[in-house]
Amino acid sequence: MITQILRSRSLIHAANKLAPLSSARCLSTFDKHRSVFEALGLDKTNNKGVFDGDWKGSGPVVPSYNPVNNEVIAEVITGTTGDLNVAFEKVAEAQKIWRELPVPKRGHVLLTMRNALVENLQPLGKLVALEMGKILPEGIGEVQEYIDILEYALGLSRMLQGSVIPSERPGHAMLETWNPLGTVGIISAFNFPVAVYGWNCAIALVTGNGTVWKPAPTTSLVSIAVTRIIAKALKEHDLPPSLCALVTGGSDVGSAMAADKRAHVLSFTGSTNVGREVGKVVQGRFGRSILELGGNNALIVTDDCDLDLATRAILFAAVGTAGQRCTTTRRLIVQESVYDTLIERLKKAYQQVKVGDPLDQGVLCGPLHTKEAVEIYKTALHRVKQEGGEIIIGGKVIEDGPLKHGNFVEPTMTRVRPDMEVVQNESFVPILHTMTYKTLDEAIAINNNVAQGLSSSIFTSNPSTIFKWIGPSGSDCGIINVNIPTNGAEIGGAFGGEKETGGGRESGSDSWKQYCRRGTCTINYSGTLPLAQGINFG
Ligand code: NAD
Repeated sequence: MITQILRSRSLIHAANKLAPLSSARCLSTFDKHRSVFEALGLDKTNNKGVFDGDWKGSGPVVPSYNPVNNEVIAEVITGTTGDLNVAFEKVAEAQKIWRELPVPKRGHVLLTMRNALVENLQPLGKLVALEMGKILPEGIGEVQEYIDILEYALGLSRMLQGSVIPSERPGHAMLETWNPLGTVGIISAFNFPVAVYGWNCAIALVTGNGTVWKPAPTTSLVSIAVTRIIAKALKEHDLPPSLCALVTGGSDVGSAMAADKRAHVLSFTGSTNVGREVGKVVQGRFGRSILELGGNNALIVTDDCDLDLATRAILFAAVGTAGQRCTTTRRLIVQESVYDTLIERLKKAYQQVKVGDPLDQGVLCGPLHTKEAVEIYKTALHRVKQEGGEIIIGGKVIEDGPLKHGNFVEPTMTRVRPDMEVVQNESFVPILHTMTYKTLDEAIAINNNVAQGLSSSIFTSNPSTIFKWIGPSGSDCGIINVNIPTNGAEIGGAFGGEKETGGGRESGSDSWKQYCRRGTCTINYSGTLPLAQGINFG
């Protein structure tokens, strides 16, 4: 078993470019939090990472790490492309039953799922904190997002509507139908190991689809726990639990899913580099993709805003989740007359941020998810200096004291010029690049002048600034906020971004339509055959 673990470790790490393994194969995290794992049906070893109605796994055994100390938490028997193949078949069978259920009845099943998640909110939130490394309130908050979207989908189950369109022909009716596409393949990123699946799963199910989920290889335990909860809810309604399949594994499973025609919708959340390739593959087979890729989010501080409000918002947006949210504020664009005052306040706020174990009370910044992320942090700061920028607070990897075995870094602010190359790219770590502007037009141009287009925010009390910001010459992002930070989106709105963020939309508003086949139906009840456009054909 150990040889297999070691062999498979190198395979998976090579496939996903993960951090090297810790030499200590210590499972004390498991023992310390045994009640959490037991509540969620997880074991130290032999956790099967594939579910297609039965639990199995024919791939390598992969350890999951605690980013606080890089100890192994538990081991997962992951899946292969062969497992994926079977999962697609099983989901298709189950979906034939599911799609026939009246939509409000689908809603009842979603309600059972919602209640099951509420029951498991605490242990599941804690598992997210343990495996991903975000602080406990954020781990719980993420499970809450899944609960919220299930409630939203329950509401949709009474409201999914198509249009009735006036027909130009006498004795004809025209209407739109929205039917399921079939199977939604979901590939998710490490940083939201519950919510991203939740957003997709809830909306895919209410619209009559089944799902196959390929989670990030470093958050397999969370995905197993979630799948167990959902499967139990399906069973309670005598429905085939294979409707929501899981195949853990590396990029080989992900790329096989992207290429598979049976993933009628492929919802991919992850980096722009991988998403760009996934998007091409899905387009090449004329599948439908929803791409939720990297961001490079800016927050503009004007000279007429409430600076206290802005300071609190910036701290949460830049330091929360240790900078590992797609919507983290990465660029702070400040009107030059208030720059010094704001930075002084931010410095004080940064000094009070407690970095530490995400399960400890009072900790606001947990570890980075992997050792590789620590290298990304170091490289980004090196480049800031190389390109003529300076570090104004933070800037160090924590290598001494009780945190020295984990992936801890100091939340950091830099002073840069907006055109510096390091500022153009997303580094998925807690580094906030600060810069100044003179005019509003200049600030908006800086906001828009990057390849990514996910989230953006302005702090102002001037109504004309607000309307310019949300108008045609304003922010070019998918999320455009005023007096709130760039992160922390609500599930009721459509979530996603433009340009290299991929253009996808998930969650609320009319995002559900992407999971559907739209039918334009014209029904002739006239008994004659009048043709459209007034054509007389013989
Ligand atoms: P990643 O791109 O490394 O991995 C994402 C997923 O893709 C994982 O499940 C991975 O195993 C899989 N994968 C890797 N190679 C693949 C391939 N060739 N084909 C198919 N799948 C493959 O991203 P990550 O490091 O897990 O997550 C961080 C990134 O995700 C950041 O860029 C962040 O901005 C982005 N993100 C975006 C959103 C959004 O909604 N826009 C949300 C969360 C995260």
